[in-house]
Amino acid sequence: MTPLLAVSLAPAVTMGAVIGSFMSVVASRVPPLVLDSPGGRVRLTRLFSTLSWPGSHCTSCNTELRWWDNVPLLSYLVLRGRCRKCHAAYGSKYFLLEAGGAAAGLASVLLYGWSVQGALCFLLLSLLLVLSAIDLEEMLLPDVLVFPLLPLGLLYQSWYGGGLASAGLGAVAAFAVMWAIGASYRLACKIDGMGGGDIKLAGALGAWLGVANIPFFLIGAFASGTLVMSAFLLIQKSGNKEPLPFGPFLALSAALLVLTPQTTAFLTALLAP
Ligand SMILES: [Zn+2]
Repeated sequence: MTPLLAVSLAPAVTMGAVIGSFMSVVASRVPPLVLDSPGGRVRLTRLFSTLSWPGSHCTSCNTELRWWDNVPLLSYLVLRGRCRKCHAAYGSKYFLLEAGGAAAGLASVLLYGWSVQGALCFLLLSLLLVLSAIDLEEMLLPDVLVFPLLPLGLLYQSWYGGGLASAGLGAVAAFAVMWAIGASYRLACKIDGMGGGDIKLAGALGAWLGVANIPFFLIGAFASGTLVMSAFLLIQKSGNKEPLPFGPFLALSAALLVLTPQTTAFLTALLAP
């Protein structure tokens, strides 16, 4: 690691935490907007106005947050995740997304430096974080956050992977396989097992990964999903069958596959004598 890169990690972590803080606003405000829009289709003008106004405030006493109450990570730790005025707990989502953003900034700059590839990588990780948070909480993957991943993935795979054909085929293959699995499940069990959001997210991530990675991507997502679901069933033995959101497992599998080649190269260079 060059000294310059080491010094530039601090702004990368800071910027990541700030964007993670914005992501927690997105995660809180976009789902109600989607549920309130006809057919779930959110107009961009409404999206921007919802995200920009009003400023950050306590959702329980409506007190506006001062900037010093809104410093990513630090404010949460100082105030222990509570409102300064009414002491309502904010929940760990804010802290986790800020920490996730910081980690995404660190990983992107550590692996790719301050480059276009690093920026695209950070964008991918941020969107996956916020989509996972929304899916875990609301069982929802809003189109308005999933669709931008497709053109970005086509660009990424064209520039840094196997080319545009590989990206396009990857998107089609991932979408088709997920659609077929969803249709078979519906035929066999007479209920929807696979959400439409999962199928669209898999398609968009297929573009990032390229066609050769699709088997690993889907096997990774289903294997980790099955593992966590089995653990859940063991813990809560009472027949409480809560459906498990699948978006976080698609996100995890895709993020690992995108980062693995560069992580291997980075570790090899670091550990080489
Ligand atoms: Zn409050």
